[in-house]
Amino acid sequence: MDVKTVQSYLSSLTLPQYRQKQILKNYFSGRYSSFLEMSDLPKGLRLDLEKNFSLLSLSESKLVTDTDTQKALLTLKDNLAIESVLMDYGDWLTACLSSQVGCPLNCAFCATGKMGFKRNLTAEEMLDQILYWNHKIFPKYIGRLVFMGMGEPFLNWDNLLTTLKIIKENLDIGSRKISISTAGIIPKIYEFTDLNTEINLALSLHAPDQETRQKIMPIALQYHFDDLIKSLNYYTAHTRRQLFLEYALIDNINDSQDHLKNLITLLKSNRLFYLNLITLNPVKDGLNPSSNLNLFADTLEKNHLNFSLRRSLGKSSNSACGQLITNN
Ligand code: SAH
Repeated sequence: MDVKTVQSYLSSLTLPQYRQKQILKNYFSGRYSSFLEMSDLPKGLRLDLEKNFSLLSLSESKLVTDTDTQKALLTLKDNLAIESVLMDYGDWLTACLSSQVGCPLNCAFCATGKMGFKRNLTAEEMLDQILYWNHKIFPKYIGRLVFMGMGEPFLNWDNLLTTLKIIKENLDIGSRKISISTAGIIPKIYEFTDLNTEINLALSLHAPDQETRQKIMPIALQYHFDDLIKSLNYYTAHTRRQLFLEYALIDNINDSQDHLKNLITLLKSNRLFYLNLITLNPVKDGLNPSSNLNLFADTLEKNHLNFSLRRSLGKSSNSACGQLITNN
């Protein structure tokens, strides 16, 4: 629901003060799928709210369940659709949120880019993905959030900030449990740094040099590699926090000895750079995963560098990184 609109509507009614709080609390609890179920509210108010608002701005059109992931196709009010993923890590549940319908960046290895860009998601639509999952898994709850679904969160900046503010004020998910991934929108990396939050930042690097990066990520034509690294150094210098670099190994693209050498130089240049080495997830008409994953991992290990081979959940249901795509 649109928190601000509902709030101002409630203010216009002559209701006891605590009702507003109660309704917000009910909404954020994830316990209900409609206002009608909120039995702690007077019946008239329930009917009134149900008539004027919808509790969620999106509805489930399909749900695919895998061993440790669930992927939902969610239809928005204008009939466009997004995907949202729930990942079960055993000790906690993570929701992977979309920030846009489609994506304008068109990275060569990613399915989402292939559907083009439709529009930004509203703060309400980003938030409602969390509440959709919280309702689905109730009484369990989402412990972590990653903005790593469809779209580029830093190109939906204002709505992203509104979403983060509402999360902070209403949900029990600390900043350190939230991660945002960007393909490298440099001005926003500076702005994000200056916000001084404890939210984690991940950068989709995928190449250790300009030439390779611009082959697979058109955004690199707009933001040069050297400037990008400068912005990342600014981030780590000011936040003293680790910066996560995502690197999916792609056959014959970014997996040569030279790439490995440059990657090592980059990681050695800043000890707060933490590499997530990823197996490329298959995408229709896409590129091929590299067979050099172990070579990369062994060499990084020998050089005592900070990295991990990232566990990618949801491959068999096409719910993994870069596999999110909808038809409309
Ligand atoms: N636009 C943002 C947020 C998307 S996050 C960004 O680029 O960071 C999705 C993550 O999955 C990104 O790190 C992206 O580079 C990665 N990804 C895309 N396609 C992939 C694929 N086929 N295999 C593995 N990772 C992929």
